[in-house]
Amino acid sequence: LPKLPVFEAISRHDPESTVVIHSKSGRRFQYGELLGDVAKARNHLYDSAGRDDLDGERIAFLAENSYDYVVILLAILAAKSIAVPMSPAFPASELQYILNHSEALMLLSTAKFASKAQEVLKTELDVQPTFLQLDKFQGAGEHEKVTLDKSGPGSAGMMLYTSGTTNRPKGVLIPQAAMTAQARSLIQAWEYAPSDHLLHLLPLHHIHGTINAIFTPLFTGSTIEFLYPFNADAVWKRLAAPFSKDQAANPQSKITFLTAVPTIYSRLLSTFKTLPADLQDAARDSISPPHLRLTISGSAALPTPIKRAWADLSKGNILLERFGMTEVGMALSCGLDPNDRVDGSVGWPLPGVEARLVDVDTHQVIEKGQEKDLETGRERVGEIQLRGPTIFAEYWRNEEATKKEFVEGKDGRGPWFKTGDVAVRRPGPEKAGKSEMKTQRDWARGDMYFILGRKSADIIKSGGEKVSALEVEREMLSLPQVAEVAVLAVPSGKWGQKVGAVVMLDKEHCKEGKWSPLEMRRALKDRLANYKIPQVLRVVDNIPRNAMGKINKKALVKEVFREEFS
Ligand code: ATP
Ligand code: MG
Repeated sequence: LPKLPVFEAISRHDPESTVVIHSKSGRRFQYGELLGDVAKARNHLYDSAGRDDLDGERIAFLAENSYDYVVILLAILAAKSIAVPMSPAFPASELQYILNHSEALMLLSTAKFASKAQEVLKTELDVQPTFLQLDKFQGAGEHEKVTLDKSGPGSAGMMLYTSGTTNRPKGVLIPQAAMTAQARSLIQAWEYAPSDHLLHLLPLHHIHGTINAIFTPLFTGSTIEFLYPFNADAVWKRLAAPFSKDQAANPQSKITFLTAVPTIYSRLLSTFKTLPADLQDAARDSISPPHLRLTISGSAALPTPIKRAWADLSKGNILLERFGMTEVGMALSCGLDPNDRVDGSVGWPLPGVEARLVDVDTHQVIEKGQEKDLETGRERVGEIQLRGPTIFAEYWRNEEATKKEFVEGKDGRGPWFKTGDVAVRRPGPEKAGKSEMKTQRDWARGDMYFILGRKSADIIKSGGEKVSALEVEREMLSLPQVAEVAVLAVPSGKWGQKVGAVVMLDKEHCKEGKWSPLEMRRALKDRLANYKIPQVLRVVDNIPRNAMGKINKKALVKEVFREEFS
């Protein structure tokens, strides 16, 4: 195998230690077996393609969350190819789009999705990928010593498609070096360790589930336990197992590390109430400090009520929020010191990541100390721009988009990536951070970023004022009437845009299923400035979300406020 840092790291781990567990069946796989299986799978790729040079080729695959997925991903990197993981939940049209767009040379699948893959291959495609079923890796049985040769990574990497929240998903090319830089940065900040046992609940076609929760723990010899498919009841049962009275029947080890999206925490919180009493006790213990060492939330804004409810339930385990993107990996994060996990903040730049805020009105960099406008005293709102070794290489076959999203720096130290997300920056709390400085070595604590939302969808310009949809959503979610909400810009002849709210009501609190704009205004009047209170309200039964729990606001506003668009 080529000498990739991830393979070097794996070859150094204790071969007897567990790399993957399938939660449902209890099957375990060891680190010592992994590289042997990767080498075998890589050879299958060469055989099936009929050539032994696949450098830079895109290889798409469909696999369930399992040891097979991990082997396939690493085998593609071992062939110096570009891994394109696809969601088995995608409809055929989405799979077609990705195969065509990535110009995939091969399509791999496990047995479970072989017919799905075959079906897509039968449709009219612009490409003709070779199909290969690749699965049932057993662990080599005995520990095989795999030699790492001197050859470099070639063009190895991943191509991940963005969530498609604002537009058609973009193919983001992430070279192996950027993947490795992301892993190193997270290891330093979040201190992944061999003793960490991750419960993995995420889809495997986005950066959160792949780089944060698979690629990174492989570097540190941690254990990844896949609970698949996601089921909130099963998650609680698994978390609680080592804490139940009948431990002999539940020999599982404790989960130390959980990373998920806000909607998962929200589902876990509501399911908790339905658990039998004895399970509730054990479940609570399992997520309380110090057992669950780290509980991370990201991919979408974490509503403060969810954060509070989780902290209450877990007797003080405060969710750590971080901000990331397909294009940049993780960029900003709160710290390991719980005092640093300030409500509404995503923390400060991760190790190796450089961040700056660029004023959305004046286009000037907001330097430290200039966070407030001297004349008005108001906080300056800026776009987050980033650079560093973790950043992606290019949007696949889209030079124009790549060019558009980078801006040259004045210091000659390389271009900045424009995230399209806007934020304000504030000093962190006084008391936090200090105690942690020793363990977090070079990762200096910085001023904290508070995300206001996407420039394109979450900043509502109403009569000369700017309203952050995220801020309004946060306040509305604190109301007992509101179960879920999307705040969005509705076109207005008078104001340019007006603030609109689409709400799913809390069934227990609003038994009638009704809530009037007047009632809403009353409920919000002490919480929000007048101009931020939604002017239009729609109550709906369901707010559609994508696999990462995100809302496509452009589509939603057109659907719900149809008559306002003419
Ligand atoms: P597309 O680019 O296709 O429209 P997307 O931007 O949702 O989709 P991703 O790359 O998966 O695709 O998501 C990155 C975006 O998710 C960020 O730009 C940001 O808007 C949002 N995001 C991630 N983490 C957070 C967070 N902690 N708080 C608020 N927003 C977040
Ligand atoms: Mg995006």
